[in-house]
Amino acid sequence: MAPIRNDVSRRGLMLVLSSPSGAGKTTISRRLLDRDPGIAMSVSVTTRPMRPGEVPGRDYFFIDLPTFDRMVDAGELLEHARVFGNCYGTPKGAVEDALASGRDVLFDIDWQGTQQLAQNARDDLVSVFVLPPSGAELERRLHTRAQDSAEVIAQRMAKASDEISHWAEYDYVIVNHDVDESVASVEAILRAERLRRRRQVGLPQFVKGIQQAL
Ligand code: 5GP
Repeated sequence: MAPIRNDVSRRGLMLVLSSPSGAGKTTISRRLLDRDPGIAMSVSVTTRPMRPGEVPGRDYFFIDLPTFDRMVDAGELLEHARVFGNCYGTPKGAVEDALASGRDVLFDIDWQGTQQLAQNARDDLVSVFVLPPSGAELERRLHTRAQDSAEVIAQRMAKASDEISHWAEYDYVIVNHDVDESVASVEAILRAERLRRRRQVGLPQFVKGIQQAL
């Protein structure tokens, strides 16, 4: 995607991607980050064990429950939720720093976290729900990924329908048939949302400059 020229200063936005596990949201997020240096990923804290292939600080900050509870009590999390019996949360500081430096922030969080962000930051939030092409395809992807035990996969299948039931709370919905197509769709959403008048906070000054030259 060709970048939007940096003529007008803009407020960063918070882009949330949610989906049931296995719908492809992690792959879409990685591609978006690779292709657009204007996006910063929000790295969550979690109490769940690290999976093979995961990198601390890139995928999550892996912490214990007392540390998580301390962060909640200290108000250090923008939102937090319990998912599959583990605790997850979004550290506030990194998000605020990224937004302040004019970058957009991408969140891979569930519907509970999205609801909390919607309450606290409605104007800055753009939410996208990613659906799998079908239930059978979702189950196939969860098995192919094979990072989790059969018991965990079964648990995730049961949770998928719960997550999917929240699709209508999102601004945009994408059916992920093909990763390239889905990435293009999210980039189109992002481009349009970046151009929203209220986010282009430098417009009055920019337009004034034009008018003065006329
Ligand atoms: P996983 O354990 O498979 O990485 O993630 C499980 C679920 O937790 C996913 O739906 C993911 O979007 C969600 N999740 C990850 N980080 C956070 C977070 O910081 N807050 C919330 N509310 N959900 C999260």
